[in-house]
Amino acid sequence: MNFNDLNLSENTLNAIKNKGFEKPTDIQTKVIPLFLNENCNIVAQARTGSGKTASFGIPLIDLIDENSKLSAIILTPTRELAIQVADEIESLKGNKNLKIAKIYGGKPIYPQIKDLKNANIVVGTPGRILDHINRGTINLKNVKYFILDEADEMLDMGFIEDVEKILNSCNNKNKRILLFSATMPEKILNLCKKYMKNYEFVKV
Ligand code: AMP
Repeated sequence: MNFNDLNLSENTLNAIKNKGFEKPTDIQTKVIPLFLNENCNIVAQARTGSGKTASFGIPLIDLIDENSKLSAIILTPTRELAIQVADEIESLKGNKNLKIAKIYGGKPIYPQIKDLKNANIVVGTPGRILDHINRGTINLKNVKYFILDEADEMLDMGFIEDVEKILNSCNNKNKRILLFSATMPEKILNLCKKYMKNYEFVKV
């Protein structure tokens, strides 16, 4: 399988080439076509280092219209991962004018409020995102793609309640949920069942 076989835009294929990726990884071969071409939720069991970030980042770049409002939210357990995920998507967006806001704690809130006004994609940690929800400074109404990265870590760190509050604030009936986790403990599977009527399960 090649990136050329995945129905991606010219812009994204160029960005992938410039980044130096030669072939899609296993998780990318499985997740990219599902995310890009099927209107489904996805639960993927994949560890860090598998290329999981680009597996959702690449299709997101092609799916999101640069003139749209906030369309995607990516929750990560840590600031470090939020930065890593945002930088990876940033480095793959090519010439597309997508604005990615990084929203995590330990940083002043006002610059984030400004960034949130024109972001297409938000990457952040649950606590600070919930803070913005409570302040009314983030509008999740148009969020179509809800991505949970390292869900098992979020569970271990005690963030599941916050994650559920954020999921419940995101009341777009047509939203799609993608959940990535290195392990699939029962609590994660229960979360999947609770928030997704159907989903495709992918394991690498
Ligand atoms: P991740 O599992 O998302 O943390 O990615 C691990 C590392 O693999 C990151 O440095 C990515 O930039 C890199 N990577 C992701 N996809 C590919 C690919 N198809 N070819 C080469 N490197 C990749």
